[in-house]
Amino acid sequence: MTSPTHNRIGIDLGGTNIKLGRVEDGCVVQRFEIPTEHDVDLCLASLVEHVQKLSPGGAPMQIGVGMPGVINLERSRAVDAPNLPFLVDLPLADLLSEACDCPVILENDANVAALGEARCGAGINHPDFLFVTLGTGVGGGLIFDGSLFHGPGGMAGEFGHLTVSHNRQCGCGALGCLEAIASARAMETLAAQSLGKAVPLKELAEAARKGDQDALAVFQTAGACLGDALTQVCLLLDLRVFLFGGGGGPVLDLLRKPALMVLKQRCFGRKMEDFQLLSAKLGNDAGLLGAAYLGEA
Ligand SMILES: [Zn+2]
Repeated sequence: MTSPTHNRIGIDLGGTNIKLGRVEDGCVVQRFEIPTEHDVDLCLASLVEHVQKLSPGGAPMQIGVGMPGVINLERSRAVDAPNLPFLVDLPLADLLSEACDCPVILENDANVAALGEARCGAGINHPDFLFVTLGTGVGGGLIFDGSLFHGPGGMAGEFGHLTVSHNRQCGCGALGCLEAIASARAMETLAAQSLGKAVPLKELAEAARKGDQDALAVFQTAGACLGDALTQVCLLLDLRVFLFGGGGGPVLDLLRKPALMVLKQRCFGRKMEDFQLLSAKLGNDAGLLGAAYLGEA
């Protein structure tokens, strides 16, 4: 039987659902998925209750929590969280730590997914990479020398808000952000505008793979803009490995070629074969697994 001192608990705290799990040797050995209560007391009570169910032998060794939003430099509270407004400025790590009697670390959800891929997924053999999540928005997490890079203010990796070649309005208020053209949602919007009807991304991708020119044009546009943003990352940091997850991860096959074309044109001194645009491996478990490893990030 595993010693309770080795319990690592990962919590993926989303706006709709919370996934919690006990992780051993890179695998989720016990898990729960519960709805997110949008109330501080109810949410805390359900987190503590399920952490206790995951820790039958006593207090866990550590708890990591990934959540959408901007987390303070001390990794203890959210300073901005549009999908979880009731948690903004709440000392969540301290409250959970006191209730569960173990250290608790908070982290941005794209960062925990990057860490999950670094420890247990497609990033295992890559010490330096950018993880990109293409979902409702576009998130990013930077792994340098196997560790998460936060930057001096704690907010590094906002890949989705790099400026690329279009003039669409982004949710952040700026024009031309990558997120406004290459998120899974933005690609669906682009398709609806050019096809005159709403098409889910999966169907759009199937049409493109069968050679539908209108569908292909959407991925060409989004892929070229993705290439613009990857070029900026490559020129600044010389990163060559990029992992893609989130709802848009499965359409990487359609985005890769236009993105590589831009990288090839603009990143001098590198060979095309140096660049690896890879699919993430952990799917929906990336956040839970990464959160469990936050204590050693
Ligand atoms: Zn933006």
